[in-house]
Amino acid sequence: MIDAVGAADRLTADVTEATNAALEAATAPPGPVFVGWVAATDAATCPARYRAQGEDGWGFPGWSAANAGGAIARAALDRHLDDAGRTGGRAGGGSIPLPDPVESVRVWMRSAAADARGVTGWVGERRSDGDGATLAAAAAAAGRWLAGFVRVLGWPLPDRLTLLNVSRDDGRGAAKWWPRKGSALSVGSGADARIGRVTGAGEHVLVVHRPSAGDDRDLYRRATLEAAAGALAHRVAPAAVLITAGDTGERTRVTVDENLLRAGGEMIVEVVRQRVVAVDRGYDAADATPSPACRWCELRDECPPGNAWLSGSATGTGPATPAAARAWRGGLPVLADD
Ligand code: SF4
Repeated sequence: MIDAVGAADRLTADVTEATNAALEAATAPPGPVFVGWVAATDAATCPARYRAQGEDGWGFPGWSAANAGGAIARAALDRHLDDAGRTGGRAGGGSIPLPDPVESVRVWMRSAAADARGVTGWVGERRSDGDGATLAAAAAAAGRWLAGFVRVLGWPLPDRLTLLNVSRDDGRGAAKWWPRKGSALSVGSGADARIGRVTGAGEHVLVVHRPSAGDDRDLYRRATLEAAAGALAHRVAPAAVLITAGDTGERTRVTVDENLLRAGGEMIVEVVRQRVVAVDRGYDAADATPSPACRWCELRDECPPGNAWLSGSATGTGPATPAAARAWRGGLPVLADD
């Protein structure tokens, strides 16, 4: 087992030094740089695409039915646990009833007020607007998330599990790290839950839940980034990151060691480096990095390397045929050939 506090201190020093150096080398201030797992994955996957996103792509895109499912599900589960505690479940020492995912989500969404913060306010606004279609889509995603979470982690939930990133009126938000007060850089931990308390022994485990299984490389990248972001935010490295998938029931435990933390720190630094490069240039074919992500990249039509990969003409890469490349995009069949 690693020295959890010492490893977090070393990571903090390394990331601070490297990001300071990157920011000082900028020809103009790049503005606020927030690093979460989306930005880190984007910068690691294709720097050219990350830089080309500009201000709209670098910040939080705003809530939508596509990205609100997890946040709604965590809030609904948090409410279910709280309500059960208040009525003699958890607090009274009895067993907490298994949540009905659809009903728990419905009850929580009906109580969301438009003037609240975060996803609660977004749901409240949709209700005020009578936007039933968006609410139905978000509720479906949240129900699926919650059902999968309970399925994989079991019920009752593991001892000492704490939900993280829960939308509450008390303003308790995601754990974040800044190199110093007023810094342009902030790093957010996106873990969904933690098992165990954060102590100097570093025995806690961060949980990242996904409704569906994905590419193994993405899974490992996510664990790498969350290990580092969690170590920075809590000043203690976790013992492991547990990645779960609701549809397949997978539980992948990635043990945290110094190498993993270093790799996660490098992902954070790379985001800052790419933001600094973006001050001078956005998309550049020279460092476009084709991968399956090209299928849903908004630049795919103008990007020669991405086009070559998608058409199968890049040496040894890409789908076997252009038809195969076009057959599916972002998990959905392409209805019109473009
Ligand atoms: S099409 Fe592919 S290679 Fe080109 S910018 Fe997009 S992700 Fe990068």
